[in-house]
Amino acid sequence: MDIMANVLLAAGCSPAMAHSLDEVEAFVGISSALLINMGTLSSEWVAAKKLAARRAVELGKPWVLDPVGCGATPVRTTSCLQLLGCAPTVVRGNASEILALAGVAVSGVRGVDSTAASRDALEAAKQLATAHKCIVAVSGEVDYVTDGKAVVGVRNGHELLTLITAAGCSLTALIAAFVTAAPRQPLLATAHALAVFGLAGEEGLKLAPRPGPGSLRVTLLDMLHLMDEATVKAGARIEVIA
Ligand code: ATP
Ligand code: MG
Ligand code: MG
Repeated sequence: MDIMANVLLAAGCSPAMAHSLDEVEAFVGISSALLINMGTLSSEWVAAKKLAARRAVELGKPWVLDPVGCGATPVRTTSCLQLLGCAPTVVRGNASEILALAGVAVSGVRGVDSTAASRDALEAAKQLATAHKCIVAVSGEVDYVTDGKAVVGVRNGHELLTLITAAGCSLTALIAAFVTAAPRQPLLATAHALAVFGLAGEEGLKLAPRPGPGSLRVTLLDMLHLMDEATVKAGARIEVIA
């Protein structure tokens, strides 16, 4: 929650990390978008996530799902599938998570980290996007975004980002922010969020005193705050694949 909230603040948003059953619906009411992260899975939190998702759909507000660790344990897979059934606008996961969501058996599960390449989950992503009428993004060396037909690839990012816990979660939060800015173009918004986050990682590494995850965790935030149009235009590597 720390890095996710800080990423959103650095990007100019006003995040609130609400999870109480008593409060989530009211919070969705005053929010521009909802992000549901499956990281913490107590039964009370899962119930709150479902309430929040339903409220967002009722109010016509965009909501984004991060199926953290889907496939790692049966309860995680079941809960992620239940939330997937609550009409998310965008789903973003790593390859293992997207494969597990689509019901593809994943070998060598490693907790919340991916054991597959993003390309291996592209067909699963397209299938999920079509079945659930949403945008699906798979992160990895190349990030892919699809609505089931169109596919966009984003080649920004750095491998060191995988060594910062919740970098992926923060990326999903940024997607929610971008979708708020362009609610009628969620595919485009998601592709740009992926590019900007990856680029902040690349540029952040140039600012880092040492090329390690601890320093990058700090300079990633700095770069999100300092990011300007010229940097994005020069550095975003977004490619229409299909
Ligand atoms: P988390 O464990 O934090 O939840 P995740 O596994 O859900 O993360 P990742 O796939 O690690 O998410 O993606 C986090 C960021 O790292 C994304 O911006 C992604 O583009 C980037 N990334 C992941 N793997 C690579 C790689 N091999 N090369 C470059 N960038 C990468
Ligand atoms: Mg990871
Ligand atoms: Mg993750």
